[in-house]
Amino acid sequence: MAQLMGQMMQMPLMISSLITHAARHFGDTEIVSKRVEGDLHRYTWADAELRSRKVAQALARLGCRAGDRVATLGWNGYRHLEIYYGTSGSQLVCHTINPRLFPEQIAWIANDAEDTVLCFELTFLPLIEKLADSMKSVRHFVLMTDRAHMPASTGIPKLLCYEELVEAEDGRFDWPEFDENTASSICYTSGTTGNPKGAVYSHRSTILHAYAAALPDAMSLSAQDVVLPVVPMFHVNAWGLPYSAALSGCKVVFPGPHLDGKSLFELFESEKVSFSAGVPTVWLGLLTYVKQNELKFSTFRRTVIGGSACPPSMIRTLEDDYGVTVIHAWGMTELSPLGTLSKLKAKHFDLPKEQQRHILEKQGKVIYGIDMKIIDDNDAELPWDGKASGNLVVRGPWVIDSYYKGPRSPLVNGWFPTGDVATIDADAFMQITDRSKDVIKSGGEWISSIDLENIAMAHPAVHEAAVIACRHPKWDERPLLVIIRKPGAEVGREEMLQFYEGRIAKWQIPDDVVFVNEIPHTATGKIQKLKLRELYKDYKLPTS
Ligand code: ADP
Repeated sequence: MAQLMGQMMQMPLMISSLITHAARHFGDTEIVSKRVEGDLHRYTWADAELRSRKVAQALARLGCRAGDRVATLGWNGYRHLEIYYGTSGSQLVCHTINPRLFPEQIAWIANDAEDTVLCFELTFLPLIEKLADSMKSVRHFVLMTDRAHMPASTGIPKLLCYEELVEAEDGRFDWPEFDENTASSICYTSGTTGNPKGAVYSHRSTILHAYAAALPDAMSLSAQDVVLPVVPMFHVNAWGLPYSAALSGCKVVFPGPHLDGKSLFELFESEKVSFSAGVPTVWLGLLTYVKQNELKFSTFRRTVIGGSACPPSMIRTLEDDYGVTVIHAWGMTELSPLGTLSKLKAKHFDLPKEQQRHILEKQGKVIYGIDMKIIDDNDAELPWDGKASGNLVVRGPWVIDSYYKGPRSPLVNGWFPTGDVATIDADAFMQITDRSKDVIKSGGEWISSIDLENIAMAHPAVHEAAVIACRHPKWDERPLLVIIRKPGAEVGREEMLQFYEGRIAKWQIPDDVVFVNEIPHTATGKIQKLKLRELYKDYKLPTS
């Protein structure tokens, strides 16, 4: 019997359709950007779409052809947004580079991706002046500013001005239609071990991820939202917000490089921001500022926090003191990045508040599209009982299949090994115990560094805490607690260790505490455990 085929339109999922949708149906909805130059820029989705077309024209005029990589070193702002859409929409590949990486890594990544054009902000002019010579494939350097802010002289030959390029075009350009599996953007992982690896997203994966991210059990985005992405556009596409905000018709507020507590708070208030997203460290800065100045948010109601474990104490402070609901999320570059988010199920509503909180502290349940399981070292699946912990593996249409130029697929039996260790409970809520390389292996038992950090963070005198494994002659490894105290706060070693009593099994309590003024962070704002372990590799624990 002949198979009956569906009789619906065949329309490839194109990233350009997101911005044309936003321009047509939310044309006067605003996009507000705090610029590097210091002032506020405002325009609309309709303006952004027109200028994205001009960017596509300008890049074509510079000689870019389908598949060419166009790199950016940019903050969250409207020009960066236009490059996102102008490149992907015209079949070029947007390669966002993380400016917080080491200069040699930035050059290495640009060469590896064979970028043909590099667009960068004024902030990075001195950096690019040093690196330009070593970026062998880059034919054009474009400074993302206007003529008035162009440097009088520079070491970069034939430096182009972004505004001049854009304004020279008429915008008469039709977004092309092509295979939805075409590459749309590339993001390199931070490369804490070895060289960074490129994750290559497609139009299809990006749109499916954008749909999923906007769902009520994910970011729950709507045209009633004013979204401020703190999470950078230079890392995993700001968790897909530039796409899902267009899909949902949100007003967008971009903070540029101004990420200190005061600048953020003022922007939240003046633009009536309702939703934001970022890693825990940025909220530390914002919360310190609002607390010190006894401020309250008037419109800010929801935030997604992820990228590293959000301490339960931070979730409580945001909710109890500031009326902001925290949605704890887990993901990674290889997952575009969203995997799981923590929102209650209907059956949880009858539970006491404290129990609800414990559920919400977990990294949560998958969004449709992602499937997950935990396995032991022999690849056997472990039970979903909230106790058994194992290697977390995932699959789905926005999960990586192979790295850019990667010689072999990272997949194992069709699943992507995340490198995270997790439990999954009977309600399908996943909780990260640790990154497999950060777990502390004490006498054959595993201690979760995240659990120990979360307890420390609940102490009123602690600003930031990190726990690392320290060598021990008897137990192999024992936990060492590294702490930054809050300004003016007092707490000593004994008091800190006593704070763990009754909160965790005795044998898991750290062996020692060191007080520091600074904890190193990665280019994506996470605690740099590798560096910390190096710093304390010869540390002598009092118990050893
Ligand atoms: P990198 O920092 O290597 O560039 P990603 O930004 O992709 O990589 O980070 C992914 C990793 O961050 C995850 O594998 C996990 O270890 C950690 N992570 C992300 N979100 C959370 C979370 N909510 N809780 C704990 N760990 C998290």
